[in-house]
Amino acid sequence: MTTTRFAPSPTGYLHVGNLRTALMNFLIARKAGGTFILRIDDTDPERSKEEYVDAIKEDLEWLGLTWDRVERQSHRLDRYAAAADRLREMGRFYEAFETPTELDLKRKKQLNMGRPPVYDRAALSLTEEEKERLRAERGNGVWRFKLDHERIEWEDGILGPVSIDAASVSDPVLIRGDGLVLYTLASVVDDTEMGVTHVVRGSDHVTNTATQIQIIEALGGTVPSFAHHSLLTGPQGESLSKRLGTLALRDLRAHGVEPMALLSLMARLGSADPVELRSEMTELIEGFDIARFGSAPTKFDMHDLFPLTARILHARPFSDVAGEIAALGVPDDQAPRFWEVTRENITTLKDLESWWRMCRDGAEPDIDDEDRDFVADAMALLPEGPYDDDSWNRWTAEVKNATGRKGRALFMPLRKALTGQAHGPDMGRLLPLLQRIRAKE
Ligand code: GLU
Repeated sequence: MTTTRFAPSPTGYLHVGNLRTALMNFLIARKAGGTFILRIDDTDPERSKEEYVDAIKEDLEWLGLTWDRVERQSHRLDRYAAAADRLREMGRFYEAFETPTELDLKRKKQLNMGRPPVYDRAALSLTEEEKERLRAERGNGVWRFKLDHERIEWEDGILGPVSIDAASVSDPVLIRGDGLVLYTLASVVDDTEMGVTHVVRGSDHVTNTATQIQIIEALGGTVPSFAHHSLLTGPQGESLSKRLGTLALRDLRAHGVEPMALLSLMARLGSADPVELRSEMTELIEGFDIARFGSAPTKFDMHDLFPLTARILHARPFSDVAGEIAALGVPDDQAPRFWEVTRENITTLKDLESWWRMCRDGAEPDIDDEDRDFVADAMALLPEGPYDDDSWNRWTAEVKNATGRKGRALFMPLRKALTGQAHGPDMGRLLPLLQRIRAKE
């Protein structure tokens, strides 16, 4: 059965880059009728925070990316220890004692000699006495996995055939000197024991994948299908790594971005298919095909989310926004009309607030000098009301007769005088609303 997982580390808020990973794994599982696991990669107690675990769940729930179960790496430390023991027994695991400074010197030396900076495996030739002495001097060493020096190959779901020479990669450290199990091992144990069949993650993990394939094979597991999506860049192709913090999902939510706008964009960005606004998750699931994604860096512009958000809102029925509108203080009997006249004129639901203020408090009239007399004459012709949906037509027809103005020269100054703005709702529908709302005050 198809099983995927999204495996964030709870060290910060999810951002659009994480969402790309989460969404692809979610869509693959749902399309296949499989299982989607939310795996919290929290082996590092110093960096992991419970508040981020809660925030991750909240963000995924906001988007409707529901998981079938949650797994926590911090609850599985005994499994990782057992796997480490097996690697030790197989002779694939060795203790190394170099300090970070020593490793750095080795790297510089190799680079200066024009060689790739790969760990030289000096620790492999330490005798037991030397290890004892180093342990006494420096404390426990780190544990490295001994790679087989051969080519590691896989058919990547996005990159196509990948082939990496294991000799060009350092033997990965899987356990730190203080005993902390690192992600590379923990992830492999989880993927194997949880029956994960497909792993989609960022292309920054390609080298990890190479080493993880050898670890999975050493532990007798089944290698899942891997796919590495390209990393996101800013609109000009600039690196987003420093700015991703400002593209947190919760910030987009606070800006009024609609979940389906974000999901529709992310489900297609970087693929050969155009972005299509979807209103249902089932449509996204049906329309998803990882093979359509390319390996080139993918440009992300947060501004693309707003036209999509606006289109979603323009089609939204009143019943779906009744709560938000009531919260603004719009009287129940005027609320459906308020939504009807404003929804075409908002980008996000946050814009409703200023329309509501305009309806309730009126607007500072915006009158150009050359329209002053015209507006005064027109206002003198405006009947007391009550207004109905035809009042605006009757009034403007009368103003037209009296002043000779027509078209834009007739309507625009009146709109600006009444709403303070050059654009906005249909005036015929707005006029009775303004009157009814203000009559209540
Ligand atoms: N916790 C890892 C990360 O956030 C997971 C990577 C993976 O999907 O294997 O980078």
